[in-house]
Amino acid sequence: MIDKMISKKAMKLEAYKVEEKVRGILLDKNEAPWNVDDVIRKGIAEKLLSMEFNRYPDNACTELKNELSWYTGAGVDSICIGNGSDELIQITLQTFIDPGDKIVIQSPTFSMYKIYASMCGAEVKEYILNDSFEFDLDAYIEFILKENPKLIIICNPNNPTGGRLEIAELEKILKNYSGIVLVDEAYFEFSGLTAAGLVTMYDNLVVLRTFSKALGIAGLRVGYLLAGSPLVKYFERVRPPYNINAFSQAAAVEVLRNISLVKEKIDEIQAGRDRLTERLMELDGLECFKSWGNFILIRSPRGLEIYKRLKESGVHIKRFGDVLLRNCLRITIGSDAENARLCEIVKEVLYDKAG
Ligand code: PMP
Repeated sequence: MIDKMISKKAMKLEAYKVEEKVRGILLDKNEAPWNVDDVIRKGIAEKLLSMEFNRYPDNACTELKNELSWYTGAGVDSICIGNGSDELIQITLQTFIDPGDKIVIQSPTFSMYKIYASMCGAEVKEYILNDSFEFDLDAYIEFILKENPKLIIICNPNNPTGGRLEIAELEKILKNYSGIVLVDEAYFEFSGLTAAGLVTMYDNLVVLRTFSKALGIAGLRVGYLLAGSPLVKYFERVRPPYNINAFSQAAAVEVLRNISLVKEKIDEIQAGRDRLTERLMELDGLECFKSWGNFILIRSPRGLEIYKRLKESGVHIKRFGDVLLRNCLRITIGSDAENARLCEIVKEVLYDKAG
């Protein structure tokens, strides 16, 4: 039987569940609600016309690294580029983890950490956030000192809870722990905080970023990480060759060259998030957690009903199987009209039978 050929590690996994592409209001994947600006799209289209599709892409991503160096302030030899930041999580873990090594993640957090860690044979220890999804820094430091893992992952801001650690708090962790610290900053543009400035001070720090959220090109799969050049040299050994196709490299460059246009959209999403938080907080029968990302986590005993009613109305949000996220729903910030529609339906459910 072919099943017998599957590795024990792969056998334990389940495929990442993504709902089939649906139409409607898509507030389920923390994507940007709009396509990228016309100016950027035209720039990409022009580049496309002169592209030699018969040639492999630039393996070193030279142009993109130069733009990223300008955007992040990091040297080009401190940057490694991935096919989405997902691939870089995998590359980071493959670089450091041997079977049996321990890693620590917080819980709940982004589900892929555990999956990639399992594929490397890592033992995953979870620091559980309290019932309000708060992070107790001293308790966390105590936890990692007790567990003594080889690597820790901190999602900042944390998906799906939305909370964030201040830079001073991250630095306290770095001062107390000398293993590898992977800080996933997929949503940092929405929170305004970054640990990038600490990379030159701590050679065990890796900062992970993506073009899929604030930069708005999830469809093109580009992520990057910042770390000291000795670490980046090891990541380069693990990184698959030509992992970023020519089109995606060109598009990412174009996005960074027009970053002021993107920043206007980020401001709009932040304002939308704050308005939606305010509106949701006013509702009875629902908890709404403060978020620093482009999403908001809510919790209600009527979570399933809200989810179903939204779905019936063509509004798609994220619901979780994790027991720690019982009754929780994650809403991606959409356009003003989309946020208003969502609010209207949530209100209908909550006040329907209750009032
Ligand atoms: N990190 C976090 C915290 C995320 O939420 C996501 C996407 N949901 C990723 C990484 C992966 O993003 P991508 O592969 O599109 O860069």
